[in-house]
Amino acid sequence: ATALVWFRNDLRLDDHPALRAALEAGYTPVPVYIHAPGEEAPWQPGQASERWRQRSLQALDLDLRQRGAQLCLRHGPSLPALLSLLQQTGAEAVFWNRRYEPAVQARDARIKQALRAAGHLARSFNGSLLFEPWTVQTGQQGPYRVFTPYWRNLQTRLDQLPAPWDAPATLPQLPMPPSSLPLPALRLSSALAWDAGFWQHWQPGEAGAREALQVFIEGALNGYRSDRDRPDRVGTSLLSPHLHFGEVAPWRIAHRLQQQRNAGSSADIDAYLRELGWRDFAHHLLHHFPDSAQQDFNPRFAGFRWAEPAPALLQAWQRGQTGVPIVDAGMRELWATGYMHNRVRMIVASFLCKHLRMHWRHGAQWFWDTLVDADLANNSLGWQWTAGTGADAAPYFRVFNPVLQARKFDPNGQYIARWVPELASLPVPARFAPWQLPADARPPGYPANPIVDLEQGRDAALAAYRDSKV
Ligand code: FAD
Repeated sequence: ATALVWFRNDLRLDDHPALRAALEAGYTPVPVYIHAPGEEAPWQPGQASERWRQRSLQALDLDLRQRGAQLCLRHGPSLPALLSLLQQTGAEAVFWNRRYEPAVQARDARIKQALRAAGHLARSFNGSLLFEPWTVQTGQQGPYRVFTPYWRNLQTRLDQLPAPWDAPATLPQLPMPPSSLPLPALRLSSALAWDAGFWQHWQPGEAGAREALQVFIEGALNGYRSDRDRPDRVGTSLLSPHLHFGEVAPWRIAHRLQQQRNAGSSADIDAYLRELGWRDFAHHLLHHFPDSAQQDFNPRFAGFRWAEPAPALLQAWQRGQTGVPIVDAGMRELWATGYMHNRVRMIVASFLCKHLRMHWRHGAQWFWDTLVDADLANNSLGWQWTAGTGADAAPYFRVFNPVLQARKFDPNGQYIARWVPELASLPVPARFAPWQLPADARPPGYPANPIVDLEQGRDAALAAYRDSKV
């Protein structure tokens, strides 16, 4: 018998619960990917992450071919595409791994119902979280809103994670596999080509994820707890796009790290597992509070006096031309690589929401389009956390000072010099606040002054906060 295995954000073969279940039930799996971005509206995938997806699909197809199978690509809408493939292949079942974005969850529920109504077997699995949102509950059987008790709960269950599973070296294949669209026909990449420089930094696909994990374990894991805040070093795993596209299962990462316990980096391992916990927590919040991708989690912000969006200021922020070096460095890293360091994400987000007092939605939208790891759960949580509007957020009145943040976390100004080369020839202390130099010593080609006076911006933000009595 035959089953469709519907690939989505789980572009790997190892630790693939849907594939595994199909094989274990004795089915010949037909691997399928359906391109239907409109079904994810209003959060259809952004441009940078679509480029990643294109490469990841290519890698998945190669991995399947090495095992004697191949990926079948189709255009959406998803349900008719699945039904027509079921008919063409004579398959009786569809297996897939779950996603948690509100629009996708609703679509999947409709599809499951329709498939079953048509007499097919439809089964879904957890392919991307340590623990799914509805399996983690407070003492009152409700969802968590605060991370620390949530994480305490999860920590007691880490020994229940599934064991790693390696996909077999050969996969059964139908004698006449269904035809596939060529990858370019999905039109995942538009004419815009700002991503040309991305790919020297990244290797999308399962092999790239495996390699990144290995590099991390042999390198930055040692010292992760303190270095994770240092944008001038490679202090983190750089696994976020691989995790977003499901090129590696988080429980395999957890398992690999637990094996390193004896190597003496227990505090680093705990710190890393906690970040995977934040990732699960973000999905927990998005599932239980689906409006939080759009609206302030904290309803008391409904009357907050956000500034009218000023296109020139927003554009200066987007393009890394604010005149605040650490902000500009982050925004330019994002544009050049599709990625930004977490500490710097917090700094640029705070600058937008507080110094410029723009609603976090404007920033979240830009990140959505430009991050290769753009992820609705993590992005919404990150923005609402920094803006102070979130469930378990930094209070609004805690305004990051971008100069002090840069001095602390990029102490030699190396990250700034790398991404804002106009400042690279300045002595280190001047790189953090070049407007404090005498006018004739300021570097040419860089804004002479920040687009907002840092003290005034901060005071105005605090005044707005006080006045709106949040
Ligand atoms: P590591 O430090 O190696 O962490 C390991 C993994 O844990 C990450 O790959 C990620 O999956 C998860 N993780 C780490 N930090 C967080 C966090 N704060 N919240 C949730 N999960 C986390 N992350 C995304 O994956 N996609 C986004 O769209 C995204 N948007 C963000 C927006 C803002 C404003 C902020 C402040 C943070 C955002 N993050 C987002 C979280 C974080 O910045 C990235 O996950 C991290 O920088 C990825 O780098 P890494 O893989 O080297 O992280």
